Amino acid sequence: MEFSATRFPVLGHGWAVEQLSLALNANRVRHAYLITGPASIGKTTLARGLAMALNCTAASGRPCGECRACRLIWQGKHPDVLQVESEEPGATLKIEAIREMQRQLALRPYEARQRVAIVRRFHEARPTAQDALLKTLEEPPGRATLILTSEDAGALLATIRSRCQPYALQPIQINAVQDALQAHWQAEERQARLSGASSMGRLGWAVRALEDENALAMRDEAIHLLQNMIASTYAGRFAEAERLAKKKHELGDLLRLWQAFWRDAVLLSRGSERWITNVDQLDFLRHVARSAKAETTQQALRATLLAQRYLASNVNTRLALESMLLSYPRVTALPTAR
Ligand SMILES: [Zn+2]
Repeated sequence: MEFSATRFPVLGHGWAVEQLSLALNANRVRHAYLITGPASIGKTTLARGLAMALNCTAASGRPCGECRACRLIWQGKHPDVLQVESEEPGATLKIEAIREMQRQLALRPYEARQRVAIVRRFHEARPTAQDALLKTLEEPPGRATLILTSEDAGALLATIRSRCQPYALQPIQINAVQDALQAHWQAEERQARLSGASSMGRLGWAVRALEDENALAMRDEAIHLLQNMIASTYAGRFAEAERLAKKKHELGDLLRLWQAFWRDAVLLSRGSERWITNVDQLDFLRHVARSAKAETTQQALRATLLAQRYLASNVNTRLALESMLLSYPRVTALPTAR
């Protein structure tokens, strides 16, 4: 066995790593992969792991993580491993960037066995830009592998999806996130608990939260805003939708946090307190579960998921937010809540 699942620099997603190393050992490498899943869940990490395995120079136990190829790829500095993405999350992935990547992919590798292009957040490419990539998928250049990542497979053309080997990453267990934070990032137990619980199973998010107090502050702000929203009148909700629509790049995180909140409320209304993620919000969640009907919290959860889909597919942001906020129940603030 040249390739080993345990050598991939990936925590969680064991099934994906296992399948990839089996395929590599059987010499069944595909020309194109599509890794999907929520932001900061580990899509790019898995893509880099695969690029490392493809180019590692160790005799066995690939990716070794120590050879020149592995190290350069891990640092994002290997000349044959391209990373293509929009300027910032939420922006549009330009067709020119895709064309330039195609030009480079067609060249012989400088030093690698296999050129690899990692195209991040491919849902940010408009259909014309996606179409441009189709040519590469239909006639892949030799010695080249294309890895697309996306938060929303639904926003990709069916012709793109059908030509890629899919890997749909799911949130990993909160416990596993907390353990990883303590074992690999030297987090203290309390820090690990809070970051892990707020991460919704996305290790990348949890690691950022450890290093960046803003991430946790942002999460507190998101919960606080939601509390205000559901205590607010329809007029207040319309005004908020308009304000939020101008901060499009922050909406992804905000709606994911709200989604987790509503999921918790639904769980509580069914009496399954054990699985909730927002452990520090238990009193307020209980209050919501008591005040709103179970169907209403369900509906709020569905509306939040739907809004995320709409936002990914470039519909009118304000309308999507309005229709979501209007379907939220009205719940007054807890007397003790600030
Ligand atoms: Zn190596």
